[in-house]
Amino acid sequence: MTDRIETKFIHSTGVDPLTGAVNVPIYLSSTFHQKSLDSFGPFDYSRSGNPTRLALEETIAKLEGGKRGFAFSSGMAAISSAFMLLSSGDHVLVSEDVYGGTYRFITEVLDKFNIEYTFVNMTDLNEMANAIQPNTKVVYLETPSNPTMNITDIEIAAKLAKANGCLTFVDNTFMTPLYQNPLELGADIVLHSATKFLSGHSDVVAGLAVTKDEELGNRLGFIQNTFGSVLGAQDSYLLIQGIKTLGARLGQSSESARTIAEYLHNHPLIEEVYYPGFSFHPGNPIHERQAKSAGAVLSFRLADKKSARVFVEHLRIPVFAVSLGAVESILSYPATMSHGSMPAEEREKRGITDGLLRYSVGLEHPDDLVQDLSQALAQVARRNGLSIAN
Ligand SMILES: *Cc1c(COP(=O)(O)O)cnc(C)c1O
Repeated sequence: MTDRIETKFIHSTGVDPLTGAVNVPIYLSSTFHQKSLDSFGPFDYSRSGNPTRLALEETIAKLEGGKRGFAFSSGMAAISSAFMLLSSGDHVLVSEDVYGGTYRFITEVLDKFNIEYTFVNMTDLNEMANAIQPNTKVVYLETPSNPTMNITDIEIAAKLAKANGCLTFVDNTFMTPLYQNPLELGADIVLHSATKFLSGHSDVVAGLAVTKDEELGNRLGFIQNTFGSVLGAQDSYLLIQGIKTLGARLGQSSESARTIAEYLHNHPLIEEVYYPGFSFHPGNPIHERQAKSAGAVLSFRLADKKSARVFVEHLRIPVFAVSLGAVESILSYPATMSHGSMPAEEREKRGITDGLLRYSVGLEHPDDLVQDLSQALAQVARRNGLSIAN
């Protein structure tokens, strides 16, 4: 019998084998005593391995259905470490609306190491197939993408990659293993900003990576230890605690997100809502096939920056901040926050205009969230000299 993922969130970490403690202990030890000159224990130095971090790494590997898990000091540390599997002269194919920090890493760091890249619209498989070059080694994607919620078919992208001898990396931050399992769909490495839903309380900055096979795991483990951007024991503990409640948290937030998406869709001041749960979202059929829910993040467009400003100033409940995936709702302004590191022209091309806002739905009562949106939008209407019925 195999347990469902919600059960795995609670029990994957297990109890402490030494004491039976229900919570994994926080091993605050940088180094470990060895028995003799030639007999070493399982741990020697915490950059190379720490028992609390290992408990987390084994947990995420089980949850994603992979062989090896790795915990890093941030999502960007996980992502950039995975890219270090590449060598000078290689080429990567990247979906064009990746996270702003990933875009910056590829264009400003990888570039310096003579690693070439092409950004493509991965919702278009022809475009993707045509962009693969003889030296392409990695296909990198994020689905749903941030913040415009474009959907890439993971299975087809991974097949195409494999047929061309490339690895597939998937940033699974938005869906988490609760809703989407890229390794089952053919990906080779799953990456997470665990800062978001996995930890869930706006308290930890962390990254996770899971490899599908042992050999790739050994290579990434070597980079983790060599580059050294590992997650500390206390943060590993906090992240384990966050993961236990992921099913309950993300389940409720995703239900509320649907209510909010529908409300916004019907509001006359909202020009567009990006939410993969709408049947008319162009990526909806693919998303429904590869993921179990539309998740808890949506974006929407007001007419312009002035409207966005009035709206943000009057919204009462969400915190206005970068980040997402927490118990509190988080509103952000991609143009200057998550995608501030992207040139204006590139942003506009991706639909990240001055009226676009991203809403990560938390655990507040959905009726309160809708009421709050309604009163803030009424203020926008008033400032714009409009009268609306909502
Ligand atoms: C936040 C985020 C990252 C970067 O993670 P950090 O933990 O902030 O380093 C990468 N990808 C996505 C989709 C994100 O939302």
